[in-house]
Amino acid sequence: ATFVLSQFPHPDNAESKVALIDSVTNCQVTYAQLRYSIKSLAAGLHHGLGVQKGDVVFFLSPNSLLYPTICLAVLSIGAVLTTANPLNTAYEIAKQVQDSGAKLAIAAPEEVNKLAPTGVPTLTTTRSFGENTLSVEELIEGSDPSMAPQIQFLQTDTAAVLYSSGTTGVSKGVILTHANFISIMTLLMWSVDVTSAKDDVYLCFIPMFHIYGLAFFGLGLFCKGTTIVLMPKFDFQAMLDAIKTHKISNIPAVPPVILRLVKFTGKGDLSSLRRVSSGAAPLSKQVADRFREKYPWVELRPGYGLTETCGGTSFFRLDDQAKLCPSSVGQLIPSFSAKVVDVETGHPLPPYREGELWLKSPTVMKAYLGNDEATAATIDSDGWLHTGDLCYFDKDGFLYIVDRIKELIKHNGYQVAPAELEALLLSHPNIMDAAVIPVEDEEAGQIPMAYVVRATDSELTEEQIIQFIAGQVAPYKKVRKVGFINAIPRSAAGKILRKQLVTQTQQLVS
Ligand code: ATP
Repeated sequence: ATFVLSQFPHPDNAESKVALIDSVTNCQVTYAQLRYSIKSLAAGLHHGLGVQKGDVVFFLSPNSLLYPTICLAVLSIGAVLTTANPLNTAYEIAKQVQDSGAKLAIAAPEEVNKLAPTGVPTLTTTRSFGENTLSVEELIEGSDPSMAPQIQFLQTDTAAVLYSSGTTGVSKGVILTHANFISIMTLLMWSVDVTSAKDDVYLCFIPMFHIYGLAFFGLGLFCKGTTIVLMPKFDFQAMLDAIKTHKISNIPAVPPVILRLVKFTGKGDLSSLRRVSSGAAPLSKQVADRFREKYPWVELRPGYGLTETCGGTSFFRLDDQAKLCPSSVGQLIPSFSAKVVDVETGHPLPPYREGELWLKSPTVMKAYLGNDEATAATIDSDGWLHTGDLCYFDKDGFLYIVDRIKELIKHNGYQVAPAELEALLLSHPNIMDAAVIPVEDEEAGQIPMAYVVRATDSELTEEQIIQFIAGQVAPYKKVRKVGFINAIPRSAAGKILRKQLVTQTQQLVS
């Protein structure tokens, strides 16, 4: 099959339209410039630096105007993209470089030092004065776009190795093929309202190194001719300013940002907003309801996805449905098949019964890189991807995520979902943020402990919080311990870093 991604971006009549705006510098890139720089960079990487089909290119940078260009240029020459979080340490980076077998690295100038110990040839993204390193900027300027190679692809060829967040275990390299990306992009095109998308202005602060940002912003939205305003990193006030300045209509967001907007009491002009999506972590019904009450003109669309399915798996097509089922993550995207199975026996369960979600779709990864054991434990011999998520469907096919099976707290033989307790905690007016973790207990096995961020000036006590929860849940689910904290640690994709809180708690006890 011919490589489809190299044709992107190709929206009709979008040549002079602005594709990207940097919210800090206000620099802009049109679709024509984007196309030109993708082709030039493809030519420069292939002819100038000898990057061949199948070579792995490691990419380390915060969101920037060059981010999509680099991703698309790498993919278009058949090289394999592997992205990483710029917050990763030199040690973590060396591990990923080695694990992925990277032949070339591209890094933001301030990140280059972290790559030095790996010995892998490294380009900076932008020119960095005082350094001898060649930059992507210079490579684009010095290359001829008409020389961009025409590479033939098989759908099964690897396009990217994205490392899962490692929230619940060791981070694994997820092998995604060109077919996976083509499928997800086709599905994204279908799912984003075709008629209005050209006028939409999207705000991007979710990181592009993660599948959520990459599928949406690094690749997907350009097919629609949409304008994207980029923020290099998340900052609440900067987000409010960007919404106002650029009349942002759409924000793909994560639950902590939705929560901040719900609890926000200051001034901000959000009148241009039409749609906010939420993904990557649980969004509680309470928070969703309050968001809708406070911002009634904004459609809130929760969705669910995994790196292993190249991102999007379920979402809401209609706002009315999202309002009617506020704790659901919508319906499966077409082309997905799913079943919910008994965690012990693997037998399929009827609607409303909780079990593990298994998925099949053209977006399911090929395998985990160099980890046959993990692959076999995740994709079974019939091709079902075992998500590790405890879920149920209702009779109309709306999906509800209860929690990650690995994160359930085992109390006296019962299973307690931290997400349910967190949702209740967040409904308290004096609780700004919360996380629930297991604490080992001799008698009960584990007990649920809550970490809470109190509102400024609030004197809420541990006992009051315990009582607040006890009044709303079955006795086995009660929070039995509370710690106060200034901020809940979260991953770049907005997931609570429970492992970090557990370690912190163990250190306090020992
Ligand atoms: P690791 O497997 O290494 O711990 P990770 O699973 O955190 O990494 P991701 O692919 O970023 O890596 O996360 C996918 C998971 O995120 C899903 O399996 C699910 O548990 C969770 N998730 C995503 N969207 C939602 C959502 N809307 N509601 C609840 N959970 C969600």
